[in-house]
Amino acid sequence: MVHNGWFDAALWKILRQKILDRKDKIDVWYNARGLHLIQDPISKTIKGAQILKTGQKINVFAKKGVILTTGGFENNKEMVQNYLGASKLSPLGSIYNKGDGIKIAQEVGAKLWHMHNYESLGLLHGLSFDTPEGERSELILSFPGLNNGSVFMIADDGKRYFNETESNRHGHIFSHSMWRIPRTNEKPYIIFDQKQYEYIQDNPIPYDQFNEKLVKADTISELAEKIGVSATGLEEQVALFNQEANDGRDVQFGRDSKTMKAFSEGPYYAIKMMYNVLNTQGGPQRNVKAEILNVNDEPIPHLYGAGELGGICANQYQGGGNLAECLIWGKIAGEQAAANESLDETASDKYNGINELVDGNKVDDIELGKDQYLGSSEAGIGGKLVVRVTYSDNAIKKVEVVQDHESEDVGKRALELIPQRIVEKNSVDVDAISGASATSRAIKEAVKDAIENR
Ligand SMILES: Cc1cc2nc3c(=O)[nH]c(=O)nc-3n(C[C@H](O)[C@H](O)[C@H](O)COP(=O)(O)OP(=O)(O)OC[C@H]3O[C@@H](n4cnc5c(N)ncnc54)[C@H](O)[C@@H]3O)c2cc1C
Repeated sequence: MVHNGWFDAALWKILRQKILDRKDKIDVWYNARGLHLIQDPISKTIKGAQILKTGQKINVFAKKGVILTTGGFENNKEMVQNYLGASKLSPLGSIYNKGDGIKIAQEVGAKLWHMHNYESLGLLHGLSFDTPEGERSELILSFPGLNNGSVFMIADDGKRYFNETESNRHGHIFSHSMWRIPRTNEKPYIIFDQKQYEYIQDNPIPYDQFNEKLVKADTISELAEKIGVSATGLEEQVALFNQEANDGRDVQFGRDSKTMKAFSEGPYYAIKMMYNVLNTQGGPQRNVKAEILNVNDEPIPHLYGAGELGGICANQYQGGGNLAECLIWGKIAGEQAAANESLDETASDKYNGINELVDGNKVDDIELGKDQYLGSSEAGIGGKLVVRVTYSDNAIKKVEVVQDHESEDVGKRALELIPQRIVEKNSVDVDAISGASATSRAIKEAVKDAIENR
């Protein structure tokens, strides 16, 4: 069995282990940004790549080929605006994917495809609560308080623009017989009345900033003014929604009328939403051999692509297809490159034999004081995570993560908060950090390990 449960990073861990098993043949560099490809000016063959590592530009020679796998462009504001037509999107995944592979491929003459296609995920058709620019948004999958009752979602003109109960298709919205690419607005708000507010307070949404982000007003026009949308538009929309709820038919978008209740007297509430992005699909076009094509549809020799950089989905998205693309095109690209004749050049071996993945598995000398115990777990995403636990009189006094290789952003949040929660509760049975389930689990397991084996 691959998975032991939800969000267990199992696929990643299997692949990671495969690299560790072949560490004598595979080098892994951290903090190494690909800048350019090195291309023969006459034959156009790709002969290597220029990498920026710890401030130094290193030309890495590739005997058989280069495979571009730098992911999407969700954190490149200019590309998001140009290709996706959105002023901003907040990423649910990596905050490091800045579309470098697109620029790198364009430099050597690659043709681009599927640049306008992307997916999102989350509440309603694929939304998160408003998130500051440059930060990851929180993934909350569904919540009845936001689409069942005196509640609806509006765009900038104060009007609804979709059926709020429609099943989530990675952000795509059904319109005129077609699931269309996620649509964005500047001011997407969820609007609801006092009854709905009370329901939500009794059935809290798992988002701790919900109440502090609410905008409240006594009348609909005052609410519209506060959130900066058309007051006439919002008043008309509430009147229409009430009429549709009372008539038992949503003529606008076909929402099940059982989920629609007319708005009562004020006060009224609004909460701002944010369009998020799981990942983009666009990038250099590849053929069935994973070869990247030039603008005349000819393969650029020794250049391959895999993963979501230049994914195969044009307008829609086949659920699960992204990881399949990583595996399938990664395998094809690797096999194709391996079958190439080696380029007849020699390169310096000064930088060979560096594998920072292997270094990350070593446990450094960790000192232990009185009542201190070490525990470890492999449940995280970065290999061995080690904690030092101070435990006495049946109480967890302190938890320190003394070694980890978890992710930089949400992973680090878990490293800070989970130890505090464990000490406060004197138990490992604490809530995980959303988006860092594997890291949270690893810390809990490691603390348990330290206490059980003390
Ligand atoms: C929350 C979430 C849930 C998902 N669920 C699913 C699912 O259930 N099924 C599914 O199929 N897909 C899912 N996806 C999508 C899937 O995870 C991605 O499409 C897939 O991981 C992409 O893999 P990749 O290797 O192509 O790119 P990435 O995993 O994005 O890796 C690209 C890497 O390249 C690095 N990089 C970028 N620029 C450079 C550079 N210049 N030099 C060196 N390195 C660089 C980045 O730092 C990154 O590490 C999900 C995505 C998210 C965010």
